[in-house]
Amino acid sequence: MSNCARCQQPMHDSPLICAACGAVQSVAGIDYFQVFGLKRAFALDTVAVEREFHRLSRRLHPDRFARGSETDRQNSLAATALLNDAWRVLRDPVERVEYLLKIEGHAVGEEHAGKGKSAEREPPPDLLEEVFDLNMQLEEIRMSQRMGESAEASTMTEIAAAGKRFEAMLGEVDAALQAEGAKWDAGDAATRAQAAKKMIELLDRRRYVRNLVRDVRAAVTAQALQQELYGGNFVAESL
Ligand SMILES: [Zn+2]
Repeated sequence: MSNCARCQQPMHDSPLICAACGAVQSVAGIDYFQVFGLKRAFALDTVAVEREFHRLSRRLHPDRFARGSETDRQNSLAATALLNDAWRVLRDPVERVEYLLKIEGHAVGEEHAGKGKSAEREPPPDLLEEVFDLNMQLEEIRMSQRMGESAEASTMTEIAAAGKRFEAMLGEVDAALQAEGAKWDAGDAATRAQAAKKMIELLDRRRYVRNLVRDVRAAVTAQALQQELYGGNFVAESL
């Protein structure tokens, strides 16, 4: 716990503003969890944090410091920006995982895979076959579209079903991330290291599967446009 830069009173809840004298503090070295007076954890009471976000937004608002000193005004602008960033990241479960792993010193995503050979371009071994099939179907659809024709209805049905499976996989990955996060929150150093490793792998899988979902959606949307332009029976209602 730190002390207020102006009145020297110990700071409670958020280190951004002094409850005793109302002085906005410098934001240097404050992480997104500290903004809300929280310890680092993957589990988050988003309702309570949202309430605190609104309370702090009002208290830190630059209009309140318009007639304050230059330091007050600068601190209020910087604290408001940090508060907004903190809430935007922490409210999103996946961004929260990435952020917490990063500030705990782990390399995540491209950092971890190495630029250019990002893990999201390498299919997870258990998906190799399915990705191979999907790419064939996508290629078939693109070929038809280049020729100004609609793809086979059976291909579109298959690809829509694949899209649904990939979306379900995203749900599974998110549940697994939450479970590993809970282990990290409750665990000792060794448990934490293991949970972090799992979460980094899960994030790679998530990025990969999310890209597949995106590709499927793009193909279905393009097909629907084609249908609108040239007529036909396929309706992209399943995605
Ligand atoms: Zn103070």
